[in-house]
Amino acid sequence: MESRLRIAVQKSGRLSEKSLQIIRDCGIRFGSDSRLLKEQADNFPIEFLYLRDDDIPRYVYDGVADIGIVGRNEYDEQGLELEVLRDLGFSKCRLSIAVPEGFAYEGLNSLEGKRIATSYPGILARKLAQAHVNARIYEISGSVEITPSIGVADAICDLVSTGATLVSNGLRETEAIYWSTAVMIGHPGLFAEKRTILNRLLLRIDAVMRADDYKYIMFNLPKEHLDEAAAIIGGMKSPTVTPLLDEAWCAVQTVVREERFWDVLEQLKALGAQGILVTAIEKMAD
Ligand code: ATP
Ligand code: ZN
Repeated sequence: MESRLRIAVQKSGRLSEKSLQIIRDCGIRFGSDSRLLKEQADNFPIEFLYLRDDDIPRYVYDGVADIGIVGRNEYDEQGLELEVLRDLGFSKCRLSIAVPEGFAYEGLNSLEGKRIATSYPGILARKLAQAHVNARIYEISGSVEITPSIGVADAICDLVSTGATLVSNGLRETEAIYWSTAVMIGHPGLFAEKRTILNRLLLRIDAVMRADDYKYIMFNLPKEHLDEAAAIIGGMKSPTVTPLLDEAWCAVQTVVREERFWDVLEQLKALGAQGILVTAIEKMAD
């Protein structure tokens, strides 16, 4: 029987859609019917297991799934030794201390002797130990933000992306102690056959992620400014330069990192670049 790589993804929640989207962007076709527990792709030897995110590290650790996509927070909280294959960059959030209005917070020291509710006791305990703060940690699996108002805790330590939930519960975010994004984790001892499939998948994922980081730009430039333009563009390769009918001009094509894009555009314009075209890159492999 042909072997398949088993990937654990969140069944329904904040990670689900993006986890499946990145696999789809790799050209892998599947139904993504989240009512199922298990599903196979049509055109790639991969099989999906739809699970609660809390269960994903354990399944990968036990080898029930070969790889998984989970928040780094969940992975670190559980402390199971796995391979972190890729940082996928999405589902950004932070684990923050938040206190009710009126709590005079001046740093982790202010938590000495207090009761802190959290779903991440492991990460919080490590942070408090580093700061030599003794506090009582209450592990709570959900709705952490209501605990101060019902008198269960003095402060909380919870995941935040925008902070809106905290504000609506009368809490003030005081300090972030941990930052997270979604990561792809892998079972450390994969057999050669599965490793080969994994490497094929990672090649595609890298191409998808790199494509997101770059723009493709084309423009016409007076030849005399070519050296200066090349210096502005910088990056990984020299640009492709094509002659134009007008011998004083040339056409240039290259890729530019997304974060530098506006900067580069302005500088090229200042050099006299014209007819600048910019396109998104769908895939990009070495
Ligand atoms: P499950 O039913 O699978 O256990 P859950 O309720 O534990 O779901 P979600 O709320 O879907 O989990 O969050 C999954 C992950 O999304 C978190 O572990 C975290 O990595 C990430 N995340 C991003 N932003 C936030 C946020 N504002 N609040 C909570 N988690 C966030
Ligand atoms: Zn969960």
